[in-house]
Amino acid sequence: MTKASPGTDPTGGRPVVPSCGALRPLGLGEVRVVDGFWATRQRVNGDATLDHGRSWMDKLGWTGNFTAARAGAGEVDRRGREFADSEVYKLVEAMSWEVGRTASTDRDREVAELTELIALAQAPDGYLGTAFGGPGQRPRHSDLASGHELYCAGHLLQAAVARTRTGGAGPLLDIARRAADHVCDIFGPDGTWGICGHPNIEPALVELARLTGEQRYLDQAGLFVRRRGHQTLPQHHFGWSYYSDDVPVRDATVLRGHAVRALYLACGAVDVAVETGDGELLAAVAAQFDRTLARRTHLTGGMGSRHMDEAFGDDFVLPPDRSYSETCAGVAAIMLAWRLLLATGVSRYADVIERILYNVVATAVSDDGRAFFYANTLHQRVRTVDVPTDEQQLGFGGGPRAPWFEVSCCLPNVARLLASLSAYLVTTDDAGLRIHQYADADVDTRLPDGRRVALRMRTGYPDDGVVTVRVTATDGGGFPLTLRVPEWATGAVLVTPTGRRPARPGPVTVRHAFAVGDEVRLELPLRPRFTHPDPRVDAVRGCVAVERGPVVYCAEALADEDLDTLRVDPGSLPVDVDGGVLVRARFTAVGERAWPYGPTPRRAPAAPLTGLRLLPYHRWARRGPATMRVWLPVT
Ligand SMILES: [Zn+2]
Repeated sequence: MTKASPGTDPTGGRPVVPSCGALRPLGLGEVRVVDGFWATRQRVNGDATLDHGRSWMDKLGWTGNFTAARAGAGEVDRRGREFADSEVYKLVEAMSWEVGRTASTDRDREVAELTELIALAQAPDGYLGTAFGGPGQRPRHSDLASGHELYCAGHLLQAAVARTRTGGAGPLLDIARRAADHVCDIFGPDGTWGICGHPNIEPALVELARLTGEQRYLDQAGLFVRRRGHQTLPQHHFGWSYYSDDVPVRDATVLRGHAVRALYLACGAVDVAVETGDGELLAAVAAQFDRTLARRTHLTGGMGSRHMDEAFGDDFVLPPDRSYSETCAGVAAIMLAWRLLLATGVSRYADVIERILYNVVATAVSDDGRAFFYANTLHQRVRTVDVPTDEQQLGFGGGPRAPWFEVSCCLPNVARLLASLSAYLVTTDDAGLRIHQYADADVDTRLPDGRRVALRMRTGYPDDGVVTVRVTATDGGGFPLTLRVPEWATGAVLVTPTGRRPARPGPVTVRHAFAVGDEVRLELPLRPRFTHPDPRVDAVRGCVAVERGPVVYCAEALADEDLDTLRVDPGSLPVDVDGGVLVRARFTAVGERAWPYGPTPRRAPAAPLTGLRLLPYHRWARRGPATMRVWLPVT
């Protein structure tokens, strides 16, 4: 790698900057979300969620751990779980992207202040971690399986990358480099043959290598990826698959075990593959993800169906009432899909990102940005109970959204994604621009040949399917503009300066000598539709779901309706009704029995079908205690 002297990213900052690949991402300074669905969420994230996270981390002593762990401070009174440092780093990362998004000087000062705090805990040899190695604590790296030290270091590196790309090189980058150098010293080719029980250091080291040009970091990431899968971590009671240490990365056929661990590792493996030109490794991870999407992913794009180990289930084990679908797994799956999209240009990965954005990310956070789901169930059988706004929760299996959990990885994870979201919307390709996600956004960038082009994208998406892209500045000459027709959008129409034409799902390219004022319009048919499960998903056999565009719908009951007895008529197509979708349905009473098995139960006379209003899944549990279901049994 060419050594770089890292400064502010001229694009305004991007989380992932591969040195090669099919597509090159635009940054926060080139794409700005200005209105609509995601602008609202970005605003709430910046105005409320970041402060909310900070106040809880201060209150619980997670930020204070860095002061307590400063060199020579004596016995460390450390608070929180072993990975609490990572939450502070993730918050710093989120705040750094927010600085890139808004140029907020207050937020910039806060990042600087937190950086000073973090610096206190760094040892002279570069080691940084508040849970190990201090007086009265276990020795450093004495519990690689569950100590999360390298995982935390990874989040530190990612925070420093975000800070540097949005604010320029500074103390946080120095801290991160010293920490990364220490990791390489200890775990390098001549050092300890170890890996972390929770991957994350892998993609973080690659991104730091991309930022600094430091080959050593990339080599170390490659080493960590190659070391995994040889059962060198202690056997876990959930098996070595829990931390993806059962099978070498390039030999695996599917993602398995702890979902977030598996997804972060896959991100690191893609990054290593891209930077080292290892097409075999890239193809292996892409195939694993494709199979995971085909067999181990919920309708919402959520991943993970085993609560006990927060893990993927076996193929087709996707029970909606045990959908774990951790919010972090949604963020991690977007990170992986984004890397694969950039590397391969396959637009289906943008479909995946869209699905997860609208049905996991948008679902997770409350309207005020101060409460969130850890797990995202698809079927809430027991009415949710409101929780106090000043208490942290221990259990995180279902609703409602809570202000804080003992393990609160998800909140800063969503926060860093939302703050950097505009960097996931548009890329360049060999010659032109590709728009992957639709939002009210202004784009101002340069084509690969250096010509400037600015676009104004306007849409009511996802409520409305018309997306208009207007050229607002150009240096002249033609260029290809590619838009994505989502896989569900049959009957889409593309209107260009030269006429109308049907557009099939996948990428559609307009080649034109665009002038200022020229418009391209994509008309996506947004009709509610029934969606049927693969017959091998036993848990939802005999059920349908309703989707409209990228949005999954659900039935929610606030009063006495028993959603367990709901039956939907699949013969009457769902129709739009202001802000919701109407299906024909009835509630069929089922008699109580002492034993729930036996001959076909006698049914009560069928009640008449009536209209049942469904709402977007991401809107559930916002009107008070509720039950809810996504998959609807048919009559
Ligand atoms: Zn999480």
